[in-house]
Amino acid sequence: MAQFITSKPARRGGSVLVVGLGALGCPAASVLARAGNVDLGLVDPDRVELSNLQRQVLFGDGDIGRPKAHAAAAALVSRGAEPRIEAHALRFDDENCRELFGGHDIVLDCCDDSATKSLINKTALATGTPYVHAGVARTYGQLMTVLPGVSACLTCAFGSGSDRRMEGCSELGILAPVAGLIGSLQALEALRYLNGRQPVQAGVLKAYELKPRRWRRIRFERDRRCPDCCEFTIGETPRRVEPCRL
Ligand SMILES: [Zn+2]
Repeated sequence: MAQFITSKPARRGGSVLVVGLGALGCPAASVLARAGNVDLGLVDPDRVELSNLQRQVLFGDGDIGRPKAHAAAAALVSRGAEPRIEAHALRFDDENCRELFGGHDIVLDCCDDSATKSLINKTALATGTPYVHAGVARTYGQLMTVLPGVSACLTCAFGSGSDRRMEGCSELGILAPVAGLIGSLQALEALRYLNGRQPVQAGVLKAYELKPRRWRRIRFERDRRCPDCCEFTIGETPRRVEPCRL
């Protein structure tokens, strides 16, 4: 398994796996690295392209052609980040998903395709690992923390096939500040979980729309018909919309 590992010893503040180092993963990893005591795993199969630079804030001209995972790790270290970082320049798939999850306390879903989002959800449920889903498209962004066995999972909320609203976001385009906001909030959710100081609002989708500018909060209950987490299922699927209190 290809990887680049910084030589620093493991820290005691927790470990976060970031899957996807695009417009969401770059700000999320940056916030976590600056937290000071959180170790990071970075996963992305792609290489940096010129078109990435406008919204993928860890990369510069000199990174074009480099694996994103390696370029991101190097950027975080060069900016004074303290954590131990593992970089995996490979695709998150059925063969490696459990191994990549191993040893991490929480996972951030920062990828942009529904198949990988669904696999992250299933791996989190199978391993009992909390994770923070997120997606962005144009001026819209959303995130939701999933606690396996406790809260609704991605399939409970959106059905099989993951979040269809996020499909094709690479074609629709992304407004960089919206991705920066959502990615940073993903990191905040992870830090809240690791610190244990504030309860994570698991199963609550926080959705931001720039036009019109508003936040919505949608609480999803666990679905007894969910094919992914039915062994944990306890309820039906009532949904309600509440004012957001971020
Ligand atoms: Zn479910």
